[in-house]
Amino acid sequence: MIDLALIAPRPDGKYSTNLWRHLKKHALRYGLQVFQRTGSFIDGSPTDPKDWHMGDVWIGENPDPGWIHGHTLRELVQDRCSSMGWAIPLGIGGFREITEEFWATYLRIGRCAWDRRHFDFMRNNEHRFTIVGATRRCNWCGEWQRLQVKKHVRIARDQVWVPQQRLGAPMPNAIR
Ligand SMILES: [Zn+2]
Repeated sequence: MIDLALIAPRPDGKYSTNLWRHLKKHALRYGLQVFQRTGSFIDGSPTDPKDWHMGDVWIGENPDPGWIHGHTLRELVQDRCSSMGWAIPLGIGGFREITEEFWATYLRIGRCAWDRRHFDFMRNNEHRFTIVGATRRCNWCGEWQRLQVKKHVRIARDQVWVPQQRLGAPMPNAIR
């Protein structure tokens, strides 16, 4: 469980405004337990217990041992959740409870908890990085990164019409 006052949105954007708003609205109803799918929602491959993809994390209540009532983290953060929520049987797909480590990590590093590789698809992220020369520091989790030039070759594929080779087969009358 977490004190919502601790994760209230800040001007530096460390904490998600939408997550806070939804939890504030539904906390009493849903509780604040957190679960992670053991198999990815994308392809079913095993998930890393330390790497929380937004689509695999569920926040809600666990009113009886077999069920979660709540939303995915993605819905809560991206503001696409209805007040209804989902009821998901824990047995299907498999879930592990990550309540304590999730809130402790979120408290410490904010939204980097679900973007540890810093792909930075976030809204309200103007204050996330401090750039110093060819390095930058993430102001949410403290990680320093350096700018690296990666070379790669792209293969382009275009479709074009070319004359058909006559391999002994007669051409159709219409174009003979
Ligand atoms: Zn970070």
